[in-house]
Amino acid sequence: MLAISSTDRVFILTGAGVSAESGIPTFRGENGLWGNYRIEEVASPHAWTRDPRLVWQFYSMRRRAASAARPNPAHCALAKLGQRLGDRLFLCTQNVDNLDEQAGSNNVIHMHGELFKSRCDTCSRPPFEDSKLYEPPAALPLCECGGRIRPHICWFGEVPFELDRIFGALEECTLFMAVGTSGVVEPAASFVAHVIGHARTIYVGADEPANLLAFTERHWGKAGEVLPQLFAQLS
Ligand SMILES: [Zn+2]
Repeated sequence: MLAISSTDRVFILTGAGVSAESGIPTFRGENGLWGNYRIEEVASPHAWTRDPRLVWQFYSMRRRAASAARPNPAHCALAKLGQRLGDRLFLCTQNVDNLDEQAGSNNVIHMHGELFKSRCDTCSRPPFEDSKLYEPPAALPLCECGGRIRPHICWFGEVPFELDRIFGALEECTLFMAVGTSGVVEPAASFVAHVIGHARTIYVGADEPANLLAFTERHWGKAGEVLPQLFAQLS
């Protein structure tokens, strides 16, 4: 049974497992391949410099796949929890889709960026909403400054977004929950280590994460089945 007191501050980290339950491919499974490419070869600053068309082809495909996906009961349970807890819930996701927003969550921290946003690779123009597909023969999108428009995604070798806010929330939280995340990708994999000593640590997911030993409580199963049950018990 999950107990959340009126003074608890809850940090929830979600990973690819939650989106996978809505049918979004993870690419980090056994082979980590897209066609003949390793994912690192289409999702890195080096790939962007070498072949931006290929990068946009990859992200256009991901936009198409994510457009067809709908929130599952895990996303809905998290949105409901947010309504109950208000700013005592800090929802941080490694996922780049907008399924949490579709389910009704506000203020979701997308530490790895957002699939339906783009930004200029040259000037300081802020990221903007963009759901277009840039697949050949479409031309590559350009900014007014002449720079190239790139996906608003944290690529391999880049620093995740909002780390200051994230580490502030980790310091403050009294309950830390990781859901459907492999515990492999840094820095997210180390978040749980930051809260040991001042927060309860709970893992929810179908697969054993690499950092399992850092969690004092584990709930095995699909997030879409476990979360609604866990949160339904809250009074
Ligand atoms: Zn620009």
